[in-house]
Amino acid sequence: MTGSKRCLIAGNWKMNGLLQEARDFIAAFGSNPAPESVEIALMPPFTLLHPMSAQLAEMQIELGAQNVYYEDKGAFTGSICPLMLRDAGCHYVILGHSERRSIIGESNAQIRSKLNASWLHGLEPILCIGETLEQRERGITNMVLAEQLAVLKGAPKNAPLTIAYEPVWAIGTGVTATKEQVTETHAFVHEELTRLGHDCRVLYGGSVNPGNAEELLSCPGVEGALVGGASLKADSFMQIVKAAI
Ligand code: PGA
Repeated sequence: MTGSKRCLIAGNWKMNGLLQEARDFIAAFGSNPAPESVEIALMPPFTLLHPMSAQLAEMQIELGAQNVYYEDKGAFTGSICPLMLRDAGCHYVILGHSERRSIIGESNAQIRSKLNASWLHGLEPILCIGETLEQRERGITNMVLAEQLAVLKGAPKNAPLTIAYEPVWAIGTGVTATKEQVTETHAFVHEELTRLGHDCRVLYGGSVNPGNAEELLSCPGVEGALVGGASLKADSFMQIVKAAI
């Protein structure tokens, strides 16, 4: 971890986690006091937000959701609005995760609406960007990332924001980007953010685990990690947090 911003280790549980598993996680993780220098956040599924909220707050772990809808309320069956997330104690919301872009077909225009709705209600979006293997092999990684970051054009400069660079080919595959790829791509993302007028944290995500966390977090421009699979077990998540200290 380099630079002056506080490092964030965020756990994205995706569509995993029942009530008992959440209780077990909290019991196992609870004995470890949160380190001062690292911010920890957890994004469980919607059903676990309320049940986990108070205990995570006591443990000084920020709560986040994995998605949000952009309308305030009304006839939108199956959707969750920003105010509901605030009501559950959320600070963060993940937007534009590659699984939502590819499986649900979420567009940059929808992500832009979700960013605005999140800011309106005081949520901090973690905007995910990343290229597919095919795009990397075609040499268009930077173009793809710039397109995804373009949703920030015209956004309020002081709006709370974190970016997560997650190469799609590294998500859930056990393959991580090399130090060189991470360093080079994070430099580009920071450059692009500066051009757009944002000076925010950029996390790395994609198969981060206790064995590779230290190396990935030491790359210049990496200011934390978005962790999927390895955040489901309290001990491996804690080891990643420790790697960030
Ligand atoms: P992974 O997921 O750590 O399981 O690769 C990361 C993510 O999708 O945020």
